[in-house]
Amino acid sequence: SPLGSIFQISEEKIKSSPWKEILEELKNLTSQYNISIYAIGGFVRDLLLGQSNYDLDIVVEGDIQLVISKIIDKWQSKVITHPQFGTSEILLNDRKRIDIATARIEYYEEPGSLPKVERSSLWLDLKRRDFTINALAMSLNEENFGEIIDLYGGLEDLTRKELRVLHNLSFIEDPTRILRGVRLEVRLGFNFEEKTFKLLKEAIENGFLNKIAKERLKDEIFLILQEPQPEKVLKRLEELNALSYILPVKRLPKNFEKKNQILRREFPEKLELHILNIISEADTEEGKKWLQDLKFPKKVLYQFILLKKYENTNTLSEKDIKSLLDLPNDLLLLLSLTAKKIGKNILRIKLLKEKGVPYLKGEDLINMGFKGKIIGDLLKKLFLKHYYGEVKSKEDEEKIIKEFINSTQL
Ligand code: ATP
Repeated sequence: SPLGSIFQISEEKIKSSPWKEILEELKNLTSQYNISIYAIGGFVRDLLLGQSNYDLDIVVEGDIQLVISKIIDKWQSKVITHPQFGTSEILLNDRKRIDIATARIEYYEEPGSLPKVERSSLWLDLKRRDFTINALAMSLNEENFGEIIDLYGGLEDLTRKELRVLHNLSFIEDPTRILRGVRLEVRLGFNFEEKTFKLLKEAIENGFLNKIAKERLKDEIFLILQEPQPEKVLKRLEELNALSYILPVKRLPKNFEKKNQILRREFPEKLELHILNIISEADTEEGKKWLQDLKFPKKVLYQFILLKKYENTNTLSEKDIKSLLDLPNDLLLLLSLTAKKIGKNILRIKLLKEKGVPYLKGEDLINMGFKGKIIGDLLKKLFLKHYYGEVKSKEDEEKIIKEFINSTQL
């Protein structure tokens, strides 16, 4: 075949996919109307591996609007179109997403004065991919539904569990592929094919990661953090001496894996918190510059500065405790992990806050006749008593307030 070897995906794999009904519907559309549809990229890879994927990328040769309207007739969804790229996204309500591109027939000159050739944009699309295992397409057409189009030997690499680039300049052409590759290596448990690994290391040594635009780098870092095992991805990048090109540190902090897992367990969605942990041992100025270059919100910058302030602090003053009391729990947890000498004390503050200490609330103090700023001061005073272990219960707190009233009336 001009498209390489023919391989048919097993019916089993289609049947057990959460995309079964949608794939079936797309197949029916190709038989009813004059259109061809192919699934491409990571979706095909994951389907062959028997893993689920929330993204279905399809290329449609023919009326893309027809496909969109048929899908939204059947499944509740939202459509976003990107006319400048000729693409659309359908957001289904169970987190699934379909990315649709239109395929045109493209004419272009082959080098040498060979005649103009016709290539569908499906071919062009696959040619631009990062790794062979991502350069597979699967026909959703009625006549050869499930047939895999494998132009670059991706099927073999999939069985060998190897990541192989399509050409020698791949990492140089787009250095984000280095980061994508390491993510896939860890996530899929694959290895880089020997030559690809050599190219990857050369691209890193030659500083190509520096060429990634800041905005894109930030996106890539967030993608790493959203991997199932971000710690492993970062460890691998450290091992490959790639860290200093993308972060303001050469090495990950001490006990990084354990600390990050704690942060992820308690605050899985707070990715900026995870970033602060990763860069916690950066030089203060370098860290600040990096956060600013990548346009992190001011809040994150302040949090980094705070983290550096407490990093080597030896003792917490009453004033420190009172100001830590105003911080959100996620930040307190981070500080408890990064402050080398007073981490335990900061954790104590967090735990007491979670316990709902002080038991008396502002409202209770208002009922006792207090008003204004004194209320906040008294609550902080009560908190400190808990911190030093001087009170244990609500009754203890009430006693302290009564003593306070008596002393001020004197
Ligand atoms: P994930 O499970 O992380 O979403 P994916 O492989 O589906 O994996 P996407 O980021 O959704 O990743 O990208 C879709 C497809 O686009 C990939 O399969 C890959 O072939 C291709 N791709 C993405 N980024 C690049 C890149 N920088 N260079 C070449 N191809 C890329």
